[in-house]
Amino acid sequence: MDFRFTPDEEQFLKEVQAFLDEVLPPDWLGVDPDGHNEQADEDLHQFDLEIRRKLAARGWLGLQWPKQYGGQEAPMMKRFILEQELIYRGAPYWAISAALMTGDMILQFGTEVQRQEFLPRIARGEMQWCIGMSEPNAGSDLANLQLKATEDGDSYVLNGQKTWQTGAYYADWVILYARTDPNVKKHKGITTFLVDLKSPGVSMRRIPQITGHPAFCEVFYDNVRVPKTNVLGALNGGWGVALFGVATEKSFGYWLINSGRRDLQMLIKYCKETRDVDGRLLCQDPLIRSRLAQLAIELDVGRNLGMRLNWMATRGMPIVATACQLRPLGGSILQRLSHIGVQTLGLYGQLDEHSEWVRLRGRMKYLYLASVAMTIEGGTNEASRNTVASVGLGLPRG
Ligand SMILES: Cc1cc2nc3c(=O)[nH]c(=O)nc-3n(C[C@H](O)[C@H](O)[C@H](O)COP(=O)(O)OP(=O)(O)OC[C@H]3O[C@@H](n4cnc5c(N)ncnc54)[C@H](O)[C@@H]3O)c2cc1C
Repeated sequence: MDFRFTPDEEQFLKEVQAFLDEVLPPDWLGVDPDGHNEQADEDLHQFDLEIRRKLAARGWLGLQWPKQYGGQEAPMMKRFILEQELIYRGAPYWAISAALMTGDMILQFGTEVQRQEFLPRIARGEMQWCIGMSEPNAGSDLANLQLKATEDGDSYVLNGQKTWQTGAYYADWVILYARTDPNVKKHKGITTFLVDLKSPGVSMRRIPQITGHPAFCEVFYDNVRVPKTNVLGALNGGWGVALFGVATEKSFGYWLINSGRRDLQMLIKYCKETRDVDGRLLCQDPLIRSRLAQLAIELDVGRNLGMRLNWMATRGMPIVATACQLRPLGGSILQRLSHIGVQTLGLYGQLDEHSEWVRLRGRMKYLYLASVAMTIEGGTNEASRNTVASVGLGLPRG
């Protein structure tokens, strides 16, 4: 298998790199807002909007979608190249990717009217979306979701609660999964809805993460009316839509690998430039060298697996088992990387970005805390391994 990019892909990669040089501040370390500072959160959102507008201006949102829906009909590989670089450079990307993921699902399952209504607006960077799957009693066991949608004339009426909704606070719309038939097997009674979050009856409460950053929300639906025209896919066909979405989200493991590559490079640079109390460069310490080398090995394995995943996806091959291999690999590597980072920085590793003694602008401390979520979001490491066991290895379901 030849993992090299074609000359056209190489050229696109260079364009993306030049774009990021232009739009990111020169000292940009990544998206790590100070969790306890509302202004920093708002600033990050504004920066996210700015990047989104600039990506849209280049026609890079919905790159591979048909032109009639605002896309460029570009090969899927270009989308991967774009994502890879945005994540590698720590550009704000979660909200953008939620919109693109939703767009992919609308393209796959939507009516012509839905495609024409939503895709061009997403491609122009005008819509922010969030993903409404999880509930207090439905996470890994998504089919257990209880939020109810009841038919009423030309609408459905939503009642219930979602939780852990990343980006909901700033989102305009949500792609939401609700129970439409309680009398059939759990996964057969679910329908997908496209819901305007400004609809009467929607309320939300922000939830701070371990980092302090309130990136996600609980969202409550109290008699929220959704027109029937906003059902995505078949009535009670939501499980198929969810599986399609989850498969896409699982390639998140590749994102983790790409952001880990940058963090490792940062750490290596620090070790090359910093001396211990005996005046010896940290990179001369055999233990530190070995740990850095081991991380490099694992990140390279992950990168190659990610390239294989991209290669398979561009050929329309089933990617679920491979994506689920990559998912826990990426999550675990980032968690270990952050532990090693904090250890290597010693007590400085625990300081946040406002301390005058901070090293690497608090990135390792942030990652140490944030990496817990990286083993959970988009499906936990354990749930992913279960899928590898059943789909990849053909073992009976546990
Ligand atoms: C940062 C972050 C962002 C998120 N963003 C969103 C979002 O935007 N939209 C959304 O809908 N959800 C979101 N989630 C929720 C996420 O999808 C769920 O947290 C995840 O699916 C796990 O569900 P749970 O939290 O209910 O844990 P549970 O499913 O209750 O799991 C608890 C523990 O039990 C383990 N476990 C559960 N079942 C099994 C099994 N069968 N075999 C082995 N172990 C098992 C799990 O691995 C885990 O360790 C987000 C989560 C995080 C952390």
